[in-house]
Amino acid sequence: MKWEENVRRVVPYTPGEQPDRPGVIKLNTNECPYPPAPGVAAAIERLDADRMRLYPAFPEQTALTEELAAYYHVGKDQIFIGVGSDDVLSMAFMTFFNGDRPILFPDITYSFYDVWAEVYGIPYETKALDAAFRIRPEDYCQGSGGVIFPNPNAPTGVLLGLHEVEKIVAANRDVVVIVDEAYIDFGGTSALPLLDKYDNLLVVQTFSKSRAMAGMRIGYAIGSPQLIRYLHDVKYSVNSYTLNYPTLELGVEAVRDKAYFAACCDKIIQTRARAQKELTRLGFTFPESYGNFLFASHKSVPAQMIFQELKENDIYVRWWDKERIDKYLRITIGTDEQMEALYAALDKICGG
Ligand SMILES: *Cc1c(COP(=O)(O)O)cnc(C)c1O
Repeated sequence: MKWEENVRRVVPYTPGEQPDRPGVIKLNTNECPYPPAPGVAAAIERLDADRMRLYPAFPEQTALTEELAAYYHVGKDQIFIGVGSDDVLSMAFMTFFNGDRPILFPDITYSFYDVWAEVYGIPYETKALDAAFRIRPEDYCQGSGGVIFPNPNAPTGVLLGLHEVEKIVAANRDVVVIVDEAYIDFGGTSALPLLDKYDNLLVVQTFSKSRAMAGMRIGYAIGSPQLIRYLHDVKYSVNSYTLNYPTLELGVEAVRDKAYFAACCDKIIQTRARAQKELTRLGFTFPESYGNFLFASHKSVPAQMIFQELKENDIYVRWWDKERIDKYLRITIGTDEQMEALYAALDKICGG
């Protein structure tokens, strides 16, 4: 068809499967296995249908922004909230990556980055992780149109130390460096303290993993007031009212309950330590993970086969048919009970 000549063609991001059958053990999309803070359920009861007549407030003028600013000890003008960090990151690509030089990100990383670069026509270059799946900071210090990487990285779980992160931010003062901290609450060190020194740093986090609210879609960026103002200008030029009234109300409760949040992250870190032991016993190796997942490879059984057989047992993990990582499975840390079922299944598949 002639009209297809004018179509913007993209190969979309492929998310993990969302099987919706009872009994499925879902360890494939890094969701939290525990419910959100109890205050969230209580706040649902207080929602007022009449309020839905009105447009929601701009996120920057809400209690959620205030709560996040207080929690992270930054100004309200340093917070940008979006519909999941995917929305925040996509807005950030659109806002900050408009130079002629390619932006840089790792060759093995969150597979949405190249999709956004393609859809917005942003030139990009990937830099190879080393053999141990580590980011080599020097690769990102030689001039670029911008830099983005997750820390800890996905799907490897490997953490880059704060000193190395600073090296990258400092070497790129003329462009924006985005650190995607989707998994930072599981034992990593956030780049947030660097904000005092660097106005070109944007730290992006999400409610989807450590705050157990993937279904609500809340993500946020923290950066200098100038960066945040530019982000708002672009957001309010595309679609102003993306965060709805219930989401804004419920999000507050998830941030407010610090004790529940800490207990939830601690529990997952403990289960992860146990999983490291069990998977090692079962013949797997993996880089040390700072996320709520392990990126594991078995010494003899092919990853694709394990992936398929687990699925037949109603246990979903993630596997990518992609060079360099096709021997690995990304396994989300679930509840202890879910993990026991996983070990038992793996024992049958890989044992003997
Ligand atoms: C899960 C994830 C996100 C996005 O999550 P949202 O649900 O959109 O907040 C972003 N970056 C990385 C690396 C992730 O793993």
